[in-house]
Amino acid sequence: MSKTYSDEELSQFPFRDESLELEVRVKDLLDRLTLEEKFKLCSGRLMWHTKFIKRLGVKSFTMYDGPHGVRPDMMGKIKTTYFPSAICRAATWEPKLSYAFGKAIAEEVREVGAHMLLAPGINIQRTPMNGRTFEYQTEDPHLNKILAVATVNGIQSQKIAACVKHFICNNQETNRFTVSSEVSERALQEIYLPAFKATVQEADAWSFMTCYNKVNGVYGSENYNLLRERLMENWGFKGFTVSDWNGTAYTSTEGCVNAGLSLEMPTSKKLSKRNMRNAFQERKFSEETLNDNITRLLRVMFLVGLFDDKSTLPSGNRNTPEHQTIARKIAENGIVLLKNKDALLPLNIDELKKIAIVGPNANLKFGGGDMLSGGGSSVNYPPYEITPLEGLMQKCRGRIEIIENPSKADVTILFAGLNHEHGMDAEREDKNSFKLPLEQIELIKKTVKQNPNTIVILINGSPIAMSDWIDSVPSVIEAWYGGMEVGKAIANVLFGDVNPSGKLPLTFPKKLSDSPAHKSERTFPGVEEEVFYDEGIYVGYRHFDKEQIEPLFPFGYGLSYTTFNYENLKLDKEKFSKSDTVSVSVDIVNTGNRPGSEIIQLYVQDIESSTDRPPKELKQFEKVKLEPNEKKTVEFNLNLGDFSFYDDSTHSWVVEPGTFNILLGSSSRDIHLQKKIEYFE
Ligand code: BGC
Repeated sequence: MSKTYSDEELSQFPFRDESLELEVRVKDLLDRLTLEEKFKLCSGRLMWHTKFIKRLGVKSFTMYDGPHGVRPDMMGKIKTTYFPSAICRAATWEPKLSYAFGKAIAEEVREVGAHMLLAPGINIQRTPMNGRTFEYQTEDPHLNKILAVATVNGIQSQKIAACVKHFICNNQETNRFTVSSEVSERALQEIYLPAFKATVQEADAWSFMTCYNKVNGVYGSENYNLLRERLMENWGFKGFTVSDWNGTAYTSTEGCVNAGLSLEMPTSKKLSKRNMRNAFQERKFSEETLNDNITRLLRVMFLVGLFDDKSTLPSGNRNTPEHQTIARKIAENGIVLLKNKDALLPLNIDELKKIAIVGPNANLKFGGGDMLSGGGSSVNYPPYEITPLEGLMQKCRGRIEIIENPSKADVTILFAGLNHEHGMDAEREDKNSFKLPLEQIELIKKTVKQNPNTIVILINGSPIAMSDWIDSVPSVIEAWYGGMEVGKAIANVLFGDVNPSGKLPLTFPKKLSDSPAHKSERTFPGVEEEVFYDEGIYVGYRHFDKEQIEPLFPFGYGLSYTTFNYENLKLDKEKFSKSDTVSVSVDIVNTGNRPGSEIIQLYVQDIESSTDRPPKELKQFEKVKLEPNEKKTVEFNLNLGDFSFYDDSTHSWVVEPGTFNILLGSSSRDIHLQKKIEYFE
């Protein structure tokens, strides 16, 4: 029987000494753990905690969902800020807002006594039918990477661990516990891995959650190649991996341990003490391997301050005005103006007398409550939620009358979209339709007949078809699931207090069959538990560009109440070689009469290549704010990596000599300026 130490004795141990180096403390504690105690640390308890080891004063490490608000209890007794969903945050294209969000949500994690947030979710949006599209950021690896890094940095600035999920190719909910994502190495390298890799190499992510699915035949939690080889050995990951909840169901104990799974959640199953003991006695894994897995978990326990004096840690905070402002700013900046015929928007508060507000999403709450059952693990419980109707009532009070009958109004605002019920934007199942519910399509058609000045505002978290109705509607806004301040944000955009600047982080196809994952059942949702990523690297706009398919709205698209000109594109050289940086500069002018922000997108096109390459790939972007008539010069620096592709035959990144095009645009389909440059070896 190992000795149980008193508090006094424990406080003398080196691992408790905050002045010592992290690795010294980790090693000291590891060396004091018995084999049985190490087994104990490999699986969780009570949904959200690791097991404690009283003898050594090792407390539970606590982790909570989720991606847009902390949920410390399932009943919603503890209220936390409901931030806009990840797809809305991504539509801002503003890493600064992702950082601010990460920092704010981490303060809430700290305040509720936890140590890790089960977020961000950064799976690529491969299909618009994924029930969890709203929880993820984008279809593009570069945008994904920039926002993921900023989010992780924000979270970890508070000494709270980020848990980057779901590693990897968890791109659908159908058969999520059993399906194998069959994906090429090139698609992994160019599309699915880059953001995950960047969170390790550029943000030092402290934890990764493995995926439910198999990747090329092997479950995420026991995928030696993904975890041990790529994540840990190749990328230098120092943190720990945790299974998705019950994601170890079909794995083996030794498979997980050897692959590098540190923690099985939410309770002991494959990594129970008994299973661990048996597998160890049968020499199915070594103590050295186990030690590595445990070291990783302990390291993060130290990093979040589990053994330290609380007064030395960042203090937590919850539901502060500052957090609410961040939620509102993300919503305002993430709103995308899709259509605005004859400048119907912005509305003039002094000219309008009556506004009709209609539609099923005008007064729905999405944070907890009603839509809880389907939202799944991302649900949290906010202290309040300003619905679009409430936001507009506040804005119009005493100035404009709000009515229900479109034919009696100057303008009608129709709130359509989806919600978090199963079969819509929800976990566990994929969407059951690419269209809006029939009654909404009918409502839109009827309303436009009653009042041609109808603005459709969509509240949803994934692309939907609009061809049935969009031509008859003058203005359309994509407002996503915008968090608890969404009503204010929408009102500010409608009346022009905020000039919309969001851009789509994913392509909106006209019809589902245009989408690369929807060629056949084989590519979605899969046959006999295998889903084939036959489109390879042609995900999102890469596919639409290559096949020359006109999307409904392209990747990177979004209108403003002002207009911008792109001028004077300059490259600092005509030719470049290996170690060169290519400097690109472009002038942006606000040519309208309102202040506004533009997201300038730089794409690279390889004109001649021995391998098939996408017609363009996003490599940089920048959001600039401009007063009317103001001009700003924006600079980008490109390096060799921005011109490279992954060569399957040599298993390496390659840049081939030849000509490239540098494209500057306001969306992936609105390229305003371009210039050629040559690469030589
Ligand atoms: C989800 C994860 C979530 C976990 C814990 C799983 O079903 O896939 O994203 O963090 O549950 O709630």
